[in-house]
Amino acid sequence: MSQHTQQTLKSPIFPTWCPGCGDFGIWASLKQAIVELALPEEQLVLVYGVGCSGNMADFNRVYGFHALHGRAIANAEAIKLANHDLKVIVIAGDGDTYGEGLNHFITSVRGNHDITLIIHDNQVYGLTTGQNSPTTAKGTKTKSSPLGVIDQPANPVALALSANATFVARGYAGRIPQLTALMKQAIMHEGLSVLDVFQPCVTFNKINTHQWFQTKIYDLQSQGHNTEDITAAWQKSWELNTLPIGLFYEDKNSVPYHKQLPQLQNAALVKQWSQTRNIAALLKPFN
Ligand code: SF4
Repeated sequence: MSQHTQQTLKSPIFPTWCPGCGDFGIWASLKQAIVELALPEEQLVLVYGVGCSGNMADFNRVYGFHALHGRAIANAEAIKLANHDLKVIVIAGDGDTYGEGLNHFITSVRGNHDITLIIHDNQVYGLTTGQNSPTTAKGTKTKSSPLGVIDQPANPVALALSANATFVARGYAGRIPQLTALMKQAIMHEGLSVLDVFQPCVTFNKINTHQWFQTKIYDLQSQGHNTEDITAAWQKSWELNTLPIGLFYEDKNSVPYHKQLPQLQNAALVKQWSQTRNIAALLKPFN
Protein backbone atom coordinates (compact mmCIF):
# COMPACT_ATOMS: atom_id res chain seq x y z
CA MET A 1 0.00 0.00 0.00
CA SER A 2 1.65 3.25 -1.03
CA GLN A 3 0.66 6.54 0.50
CA HIS A 4 0.10 9.69 -1.49
CA THR A 5 2.81 12.33 -1.57
CA GLN A 6 2.85 15.73 -3.27
CA GLN A 7 4.70 14.02 -6.13
CA THR A 8 2.25 11.15 -6.62
CA LEU A 9 -0.70 13.55 -6.57
CA LYS A 10 0.67 15.50 -9.53
CA SER A 11 -0.88 14.91 -12.96
CA PRO A 12 0.95 16.08 -16.10
CA ILE A 13 -1.74 18.74 -16.68
CA PHE A 14 -1.24 22.21 -15.19
CA PRO A 15 -4.43 23.98 -14.02
CA THR A 16 -6.31 26.08 -16.55
CA TRP A 17 -7.86 28.22 -13.79
CA CYS A 18 -7.56 32.01 -14.08
CA PRO A 19 -4.56 33.47 -12.20
CA GLY A 20 -5.67 34.38 -8.67
CA CYS A 21 -8.68 32.02 -8.67
CA GLY A 22 -9.59 30.69 -5.23
CA ASP A 23 -9.54 27.17 -6.66
CA PHE A 24 -5.74 27.21 -6.34
CA GLY A 25 -5.95 27.63 -2.55
CA ILE A 26 -8.49 24.82 -2.21
CA TRP A 27 -6.38 22.56 -4.44
CA ALA A 28 -3.24 23.25 -2.38
CA SER A 29 -5.10 22.59 0.88
CA LEU A 30 -6.62 19.37 -0.42
CA LYS A 31 -3.28 17.94 -1.54
CA GLN A 32 -1.67 18.91 1.77
CA ALA A 33 -4.53 17.31 3.74
CA ILE A 34 -4.25 14.06 1.75
CA VAL A 35 -0.48 13.92 2.29
CA GLU A 36 -0.70 14.75 6.02
CA LEU A 37 -3.39 12.11 6.55
CA ALA A 38 -1.13 9.60 4.79
CA LEU A 39 -4.07 8.27 2.80
CA PRO A 40 -3.14 5.20 0.75
CA GLU A 41 -3.55 5.71 -2.99
CA GLU A 42 -5.89 2.77 -3.43
CA GLN A 43 -8.22 3.89 -0.63
CA LEU A 44 -8.97 7.38 -1.89
CA VAL A 45 -11.57 8.36 -4.49
CA LEU A 46 -12.37 11.90 -5.56
CA VAL A 47 -15.72 12.54 -7.24
CA TYR A 48 -15.98 15.78 -9.19
CA GLY A 49 -18.95 17.85 -10.24
CA VAL A 50 -19.13 20.05 -13.31
CA GLY A 51 -17.68 23.54 -13.11
CA CYS A 52 -14.30 25.22 -12.73
CA SER A 53 -13.88 23.25 -9.49
CA GLY A 54 -14.65 19.97 -11.26
CA ASN A 55 -11.88 20.66 -13.75
CA MET A 56 -9.60 19.61 -10.90
CA ALA A 57 -10.27 16.07 -12.16
CA ASP A 58 -7.55 16.69 -14.74
CA PHE A 59 -5.02 18.12 -12.31
CA ASN A 60 -5.00 15.35 -9.66
CA ARG A 61 -3.47 11.94 -10.17
CA VAL A 62 -5.90 10.00 -7.98
CA TYR A 63 -8.68 7.48 -8.49
CA GLY A 64 -11.69 9.53 -9.40
CA PHE A 65 -14.94 9.97 -11.24
CA HIS A 66 -16.15 13.06 -13.09
CA ALA A 67 -19.90 13.09 -12.62
CA LEU A 68 -22.72 14.81 -14.49
CA HIS A 69 -23.76 18.29 -13.37
CA GLY A 70 -25.44 18.08 -9.94
CA ARG A 71 -24.82 14.33 -9.61
CA ALA A 72 -21.44 14.14 -7.86
CA ILE A 73 -22.96 13.42 -4.44
CA ALA A 74 -25.17 10.59 -5.74
CA ASN A 75 -22.16 8.95 -7.40
CA ALA A 76 -20.05 9.37 -4.26
CA GLU A 77 -22.75 7.69 -2.14
CA ALA A 78 -22.84 4.74 -4.54
CA ILE A 79 -19.06 4.34 -4.46
CA LYS A 80 -19.06 4.43 -0.65
CA LEU A 81 -21.86 1.85 -0.39
CA ALA A 82 -20.10 -0.46 -2.85
CA ASN A 83 -16.83 -0.27 -0.94
CA HIS A 84 -17.10 1.43 2.42
CA ASP A 85 -13.38 0.93 3.10
CA LEU A 86 -12.71 3.86 0.74
CA LYS A 87 -12.42 7.51 1.67
CA VAL A 88 -14.69 9.37 -0.74
CA ILE A 89 -14.42 13.12 -1.28
CA VAL A 90 -16.69 15.25 -3.46
CA ILE A 91 -15.29 18.33 -5.20
CA ALA A 92 -18.10 20.51 -6.55
CA GLY A 93 -19.26 24.10 -6.82
CA ASP A 94 -22.11 26.07 -5.28
CA GLY A 95 -24.21 25.85 -8.44
CA ASP A 96 -23.67 22.11 -8.78
CA THR A 97 -24.41 21.40 -5.10
CA TYR A 98 -27.04 23.95 -4.03
CA GLY A 99 -28.72 24.28 -7.45
CA GLU A 100 -28.78 21.26 -9.76
CA GLY A 101 -27.81 18.83 -6.97
CA LEU A 102 -29.74 20.29 -4.03
CA ASN A 103 -31.96 17.23 -3.61
CA HIS A 104 -28.90 14.97 -3.47
CA PHE A 105 -27.26 17.34 -0.97
CA ILE A 106 -30.20 17.29 1.45
CA THR A 107 -30.80 13.56 1.04
CA SER A 108 -27.17 12.66 1.58
CA VAL A 109 -26.92 14.90 4.64
CA ARG A 110 -30.06 13.31 6.12
CA GLY A 111 -28.67 9.84 5.46
CA ASN A 112 -25.32 10.74 7.03
CA HIS A 113 -23.44 8.97 4.24
CA ASP A 114 -19.76 8.77 5.10
CA ILE A 115 -18.47 11.12 2.41
CA THR A 116 -16.82 14.54 2.52
CA LEU A 117 -18.26 17.44 0.53
CA ILE A 118 -15.83 20.23 -0.34
CA ILE A 119 -17.94 22.92 -1.95
CA HIS A 120 -16.18 25.66 -3.91
CA ASP A 121 -18.58 28.51 -3.13
CA ASN A 122 -17.84 31.49 -5.37
CA GLN A 123 -21.40 32.87 -5.52
CA VAL A 124 -21.49 32.63 -9.32
CA TYR A 125 -21.44 30.14 -12.20
CA GLY A 126 -17.80 30.62 -13.26
CA LEU A 127 -17.35 28.01 -15.99
CA THR A 128 -20.30 29.35 -17.96
CA THR A 129 -18.92 32.92 -17.58
CA GLY A 130 -20.76 34.59 -14.73
CA GLN A 131 -24.44 33.82 -14.27
CA ASN A 132 -25.98 34.10 -10.81
CA SER A 133 -25.86 30.92 -8.68
CA PRO A 134 -27.93 29.84 -5.64
CA THR A 135 -25.57 31.70 -3.29
CA THR A 136 -25.46 35.01 -5.21
CA ALA A 137 -26.69 37.87 -3.01
CA LYS A 138 -30.12 39.33 -3.70
CA GLY A 139 -29.90 42.38 -5.95
CA THR A 140 -26.62 41.37 -7.62
CA LYS A 141 -26.47 42.19 -11.32
CA THR A 142 -25.06 39.38 -13.44
CA LYS A 143 -25.31 38.28 -17.06
CA SER A 144 -28.42 36.31 -16.24
CA SER A 145 -29.87 38.89 -13.84
CA PRO A 146 -29.24 42.29 -15.48
CA LEU A 147 -31.82 43.97 -13.22
CA GLY A 148 -30.50 42.26 -10.06
CA VAL A 149 -31.17 38.84 -8.54
CA ILE A 150 -34.70 38.58 -7.14
CA ASP A 151 -34.25 35.35 -5.13
CA GLN A 152 -32.90 35.24 -1.59
CA PRO A 153 -29.53 33.45 -1.50
CA ALA A 154 -29.21 29.93 -0.10
CA ASN A 155 -27.37 29.70 3.22
CA PRO A 156 -25.28 26.50 2.89
CA VAL A 157 -24.31 26.21 6.56
CA ALA A 158 -27.89 26.71 7.76
CA LEU A 159 -29.19 24.32 5.07
CA ALA A 160 -26.81 21.60 6.23
CA LEU A 161 -27.64 22.14 9.91
CA SER A 162 -31.39 22.09 9.26
CA ALA A 163 -31.00 18.72 7.50
CA ASN A 164 -29.24 17.31 10.62
CA ALA A 165 -25.69 17.30 9.26
CA THR A 166 -23.20 15.74 11.68
CA PHE A 167 -20.25 17.90 10.55
CA VAL A 168 -20.55 21.44 9.21
CA ALA A 169 -17.64 23.79 8.55
CA ARG A 170 -16.78 26.76 6.39
CA GLY A 171 -13.36 27.77 5.12
CA TYR A 172 -11.76 30.38 2.92
CA ALA A 173 -9.48 29.61 -0.01
CA GLY A 174 -7.08 32.37 1.07
CA ARG A 175 -6.32 30.75 4.45
CA ILE A 176 -4.60 27.57 3.41
CA PRO A 177 -3.34 26.28 6.82
CA GLN A 178 -6.78 26.62 8.41
CA LEU A 179 -8.48 25.14 5.35
CA THR A 180 -6.08 22.18 5.35
CA ALA A 181 -6.87 21.51 9.03
CA LEU A 182 -10.63 21.70 8.36
CA MET A 183 -10.29 19.29 5.44
CA LYS A 184 -8.42 16.79 7.60
CA GLN A 185 -11.13 16.98 10.27
CA ALA A 186 -13.86 16.66 7.64
CA ILE A 187 -12.24 13.65 5.95
CA MET A 188 -11.73 11.84 9.27
CA HIS A 189 -15.28 12.53 10.49
CA GLU A 190 -17.44 9.39 10.52
CA GLY A 191 -20.52 10.43 8.56
CA LEU A 192 -21.28 13.15 6.08
CA SER A 193 -19.10 16.25 6.40
CA VAL A 194 -20.01 19.53 4.74
CA LEU A 195 -17.16 21.97 4.14
CA ASP A 196 -18.36 25.06 2.31
CA VAL A 197 -15.36 27.08 1.10
CA PHE A 198 -15.44 30.75 0.12
CA GLN A 199 -13.62 30.74 -3.22
CA PRO A 200 -13.24 34.09 -4.98
CA CYS A 201 -13.91 33.94 -8.72
CA VAL A 202 -11.60 36.77 -9.73
CA THR A 203 -12.88 36.93 -13.30
CA PHE A 204 -16.67 36.95 -12.99
CA ASN A 205 -17.43 37.98 -9.42
CA LYS A 206 -16.19 41.52 -8.80
CA ILE A 207 -18.07 41.83 -5.49
CA ASN A 208 -16.98 38.84 -3.39
CA THR A 209 -13.28 39.40 -3.98
CA HIS A 210 -10.27 38.35 -1.87
CA GLN A 211 -10.24 41.89 -0.43
CA TRP A 212 -13.98 41.69 0.39
CA PHE A 213 -13.56 38.38 2.23
CA GLN A 214 -10.55 39.71 4.16
CA THR A 215 -12.75 42.42 5.68
CA LYS A 216 -15.68 40.09 6.41
CA ILE A 217 -14.35 36.81 7.76
CA TYR A 218 -13.25 35.90 11.26
CA ASP A 219 -12.16 32.66 12.88
CA LEU A 220 -14.94 30.95 14.87
CA GLN A 221 -12.48 28.95 16.95
CA SER A 222 -10.74 32.11 18.18
CA GLN A 223 -14.08 33.16 19.72
CA GLY A 224 -14.47 30.05 21.89
CA HIS A 225 -17.38 28.67 19.83
CA ASN A 226 -18.69 25.35 21.22
CA THR A 227 -18.72 22.96 18.24
CA GLU A 228 -20.98 20.49 20.05
CA ASP A 229 -23.76 23.06 20.54
CA ILE A 230 -26.09 22.92 17.54
CA THR A 231 -28.09 25.95 18.71
CA ALA A 232 -24.93 28.06 18.83
CA ALA A 233 -23.97 26.74 15.39
CA TRP A 234 -27.38 27.71 14.02
CA GLN A 235 -27.06 31.24 15.42
CA LYS A 236 -23.57 31.59 13.94
CA SER A 237 -24.81 30.39 10.54
CA TRP A 238 -27.10 33.43 10.35
CA GLU A 239 -24.37 35.99 11.01
CA LEU A 240 -24.34 37.70 7.65
CA ASN A 241 -22.59 41.04 8.18
CA THR A 242 -19.44 39.34 9.36
CA LEU A 243 -18.75 35.80 8.18
CA PRO A 244 -17.49 33.18 10.65
CA ILE A 245 -15.19 30.51 9.24
CA GLY A 246 -14.10 27.32 10.98
CA LEU A 247 -15.94 24.34 12.44
CA PHE A 248 -19.58 25.18 13.24
CA TYR A 249 -20.77 21.81 14.45
CA GLU A 250 -19.68 18.21 14.90
CA ASP A 251 -21.66 15.33 16.34
CA LYS A 252 -18.99 13.10 17.85
CA ASN A 253 -21.49 10.23 18.21
CA SER A 254 -22.34 10.22 14.52
CA VAL A 255 -23.12 6.78 13.05
CA PRO A 256 -22.77 6.76 9.26
CA TYR A 257 -25.32 5.21 6.89
CA HIS A 258 -23.32 2.14 5.93
CA LYS A 259 -22.80 1.16 9.57
CA GLN A 260 -26.57 0.95 9.98
CA LEU A 261 -26.96 -1.58 7.16
CA PRO A 262 -26.79 -5.12 8.56
CA GLN A 263 -25.79 -6.42 5.11
CA LEU A 264 -22.51 -4.52 5.29
CA GLN A 265 -21.45 -5.46 8.81
CA ASN A 266 -19.06 -8.28 7.92
CA ALA A 267 -17.37 -6.90 4.83
CA ALA A 268 -17.65 -4.25 2.17
CA LEU A 269 -20.06 -5.17 -0.63
CA VAL A 270 -17.29 -5.37 -3.19
CA LYS A 271 -15.41 -7.89 -1.02
CA GLN A 272 -18.53 -10.01 -0.55
CA TRP A 273 -18.90 -10.10 -4.32
CA SER A 274 -15.31 -11.10 -4.91
CA GLN A 275 -15.67 -13.88 -2.32
CA THR A 276 -18.89 -15.38 -3.63
CA ARG A 277 -19.16 -14.38 -7.30
CA ASN A 278 -22.76 -15.43 -6.76
CA ILE A 279 -25.31 -12.69 -7.36
CA ALA A 280 -28.19 -14.71 -5.87
CA ALA A 281 -26.32 -15.27 -2.60
CA LEU A 282 -25.32 -11.63 -2.49
CA LEU A 283 -28.91 -10.44 -2.91
CA LYS A 284 -30.39 -12.91 -0.41
CA PRO A 285 -30.17 -10.62 2.66
CA PHE A 286 -32.07 -7.94 0.73
CA ASN A 287 -35.07 -10.24 -0.06
FE1 SF4 B 1 -11.77 30.57 -11.12
FE2 SF4 B 1 -13.74 32.16 -11.92
FE3 SF4 B 1 -11.66 31.69 -13.53
FE4 SF4 B 1 -13.43 29.76 -13.00
S1 SF4 B 1 -13.85 31.67 -14.09
S2 SF4 B 1 -11.20 29.55 -13.04
S3 SF4 B 1 -13.96 30.19 -10.84
S4 SF4 B 1 -11.61 32.76 -11.56
